[in-house]
Amino acid sequence: MLNIPDSPYERIVIVGAGFAGLNIAKRLKKKKFQIVLIDKNNYHQFQPLFYQVAMAGLEPSSIVFPLRKAFQGYKNVHIRITEVSGIKPDKKRIDTLLGEIYYDKLIIATGATTNFFGNKEFKKLTSPLKSLSEALALRNEILSDFEKALMTPEYDKRQGFIDIVIVGGGPTGVELAGSLAEMKKYILPKDYPELDEKEVDIYLFQGGDRLLMGMSQKASDKALQFLQKLDVKVELKKRVTAFDGTFVTTKDGQKIRAHKVIWAAGIKGNIISGLEKCEIVRGNRYTVDYTNKIKACEDIYALGDIAYMETEAYPNGHPQVAQAAIQQSVNLANNLIKNQQKPFKYKDLGSMATIGRNKAVCDLPNFKISGFFAWILWLFVHVMSLIGFRNKVIVMLNWMWNYMTYDQSLRVIINGEKKGEK
Ligand SMILES: Cc1cc2nc3c(=O)[nH]c(=O)nc-3n(C[C@H](O)[C@H](O)[C@H](O)COP(=O)(O)OP(=O)(O)OC[C@H]3O[C@@H](n4cnc5c(N)ncnc54)[C@H](O)[C@@H]3O)c2cc1C
Repeated sequence: MLNIPDSPYERIVIVGAGFAGLNIAKRLKKKKFQIVLIDKNNYHQFQPLFYQVAMAGLEPSSIVFPLRKAFQGYKNVHIRITEVSGIKPDKKRIDTLLGEIYYDKLIIATGATTNFFGNKEFKKLTSPLKSLSEALALRNEILSDFEKALMTPEYDKRQGFIDIVIVGGGPTGVELAGSLAEMKKYILPKDYPELDEKEVDIYLFQGGDRLLMGMSQKASDKALQFLQKLDVKVELKKRVTAFDGTFVTTKDGQKIRAHKVIWAAGIKGNIISGLEKCEIVRGNRYTVDYTNKIKACEDIYALGDIAYMETEAYPNGHPQVAQAAIQQSVNLANNLIKNQQKPFKYKDLGSMATIGRNKAVCDLPNFKISGFFAWILWLFVHVMSLIGFRNKVIVMLNWMWNYMTYDQSLRVIINGEKKGEK
């Protein structure tokens, strides 16, 4: 049992405290509802900066926000840290690893996870970047491999430790590649003078014919140009077909010795079992109506990455980005508060990606920019979107320090140790 007290108010259970779940809970916290917010973690994670944690550019604590802090003083908000494992819509009940709970209204905002497209080897051997713990694991792996490379005199074997393959040329792949290239250029010669940084090859393989498919052609071309300038080996229309932990094989027969393959090639929704009678489209997303109510399910809504809403302007659903999640949560909160059914309308505020210092691309509603001003805009938008004043200040100071010194002092390998181990 989750031990939620009785309340005279309607109980709204929100599953997931990402951009959508946290935002709707905040909007409803002052209203006459009993809110139960459930997440696997006791913090909200700011996914757009995961790659900077993975590249040892930011401390993990500066991009997360503790859930309890966000709701201090609100007795009608109950936070429970557990995983939701099933839904029984006919009983209006959800099951969690810690017990069951009944709802009057249920909001599913469970986001998305990495899609390996059914390939068990990729799932087992590549590094994804969809959670903070995965970002930390990647950071440890990259740093540990540089240490191992130092002690490997054989050229071929050493290549395996220092070469990195990134699969997927979307924003995550592009940002990671740029960041790794800067690490190679500025950090490696200082931290590892015994290694020849010219030996480090960073590959970015993209299945499509351009990078950043969700952005304009101009942004794609610029991103490619920036990455090539940073010496990243970008290959378009290139598919990775196999990886055995030592060699990466591509469809055209290329074989690269690399122990690290970062998988940034796709996502799928975190669906919860029990809603099989509802329509679930490709990419594991619940089909919702214009108010984000899951079709064929009463009193159950889906928000953000997990929701699929077809509209005239977006016949293939909205982009799986933070703004769509936030805007949907605003619309649904207003509908619940005012007891209305106003349809959701997405306002595209633009999209952006950074490739490195002074290098970013931005597609804004009325114009497109790239280079230094795009980079400044990227910095500003990301700092302002972080939750918590402390996080904003820490990230800004980190970036300023990094900009001035071309260095960071966060490159520590901290591997967790379980109780009783040794
Ligand atoms: C590396 C990376 C970079 C990105 N960069 C950008 C960017 O630059 N700009 C942008 O707009 N978007 C970016 N995105 C996408 C953006 O982060 C997502 O669109 C957004 O997080 C979706 O919000 P959400 O609320 O739907 O889900 P999420 O923010 O993913 O939140 C889902 C929450 O649900 C919880 N959860 C999941 N399953 C369960 C369960 N069964 N039980 C309990 N809790 C559960 C999770 O712990 C999580 O807290 C990026 C994503 C990644 C991974």
